[in-house]
Amino acid sequence: MTAKIIDGKVIAAELRGRVAEEVARVRREHNLVPGLAVVLVGNDPASEVYVRSKHTQTQAAGMASFEHKLPADVSQAELLALVAKLNRDPAVHGILVQLPLPKGLNTEAVINAIDPAKDVDGLHPNNAGRLAGGFSALSPCTPLGCIILTKSVHASLEGMNAIVIGRSNLVGRPLVQLLLNENATVTIAHSRSRDLPGLVRRADLVYAAVGKAEMVRGDWLKPGATVIDVGINRIPRADGKTRLVGDVAYQEALEVAGAITPVPGGVGQMTVACLLVNTLRAACAIAGLPKPAV
Ligand code: NDP
Repeated sequence: MTAKIIDGKVIAAELRGRVAEEVARVRREHNLVPGLAVVLVGNDPASEVYVRSKHTQTQAAGMASFEHKLPADVSQAELLALVAKLNRDPAVHGILVQLPLPKGLNTEAVINAIDPAKDVDGLHPNNAGRLAGGFSALSPCTPLGCIILTKSVHASLEGMNAIVIGRSNLVGRPLVQLLLNENATVTIAHSRSRDLPGLVRRADLVYAAVGKAEMVRGDWLKPGATVIDVGINRIPRADGKTRLVGDVAYQEALEVAGAITPVPGGVGQMTVACLLVNTLRAACAIAGLPKPAV
């Protein structure tokens, strides 16, 4: 058996297309131009690549994109002042502060300063709490993408056994809540879990969000399981360059799983597309319009 490959590139492109249609509609019918502000502090090369891609895709969807680049030695007070200005700006519906922040800045205080209605990363405690309580919330983009990818294979996740490996605020924890909202039965595994292979073997849906290259082996999987690999790990190649691999041993898993996301070309593609979804949703909510059809 060879697993079906879940093509994140294609699914993300479809989603971006639907967002663009909805943006065109709210512009036409309500004169509303959703706007996303991205704040980049310092010049971490990986963050610069992410921010550029967010800027391009936001504009391609017909939304306004505002980029704010601050030097690595910016003070906490200056960064908080920019967040406060963006909170007040009526053209800005989504605010994303690119993480990680340089050392010396207090990430928690910055996240807490973002207006929860504009918190398109879904990291503000208000949104995290709402999600955990089962209320409507802006949810983190990567877990949202994981759910959409899973639903490209299974129309309903009701009653399925899911395992989420990893419990970060950015990925694991919100993913658990989204799966509960889909009526899946969820196991949360982490670095202290016992017999991880045994836990994984019971799961119909496996989400790996650990940050350890190819940790989940093919023989851990239940035959036919759907595997969503969130991990992004750079490992050295013989020629001195690096290659990207996920948290799942892909070639092994292909032989056992029913469906699997590749790395790259899987979850990573969905994250920015879901950021566009969140910005559109935030803009509609702030303007008092019904939830958009994406
Ligand atoms: P964190 O480092 O914040 O969390 C990692 C989690 O994995 C922790 O909960 C940790 O457990 C758990 N863990 C570590 N070692 C083991 C182990 N041996 N067995 C079981 N669990 C373990 O990472 P993130 O959640 O931020 O990211 C996870 C991965 O996803 C990374 O590779 C990251 O690059 C990638 N990522 C990809 C995105 C995308 O768009 N595709 C977006 C965001 C992240 P404990 O809590 O006990 O320490």
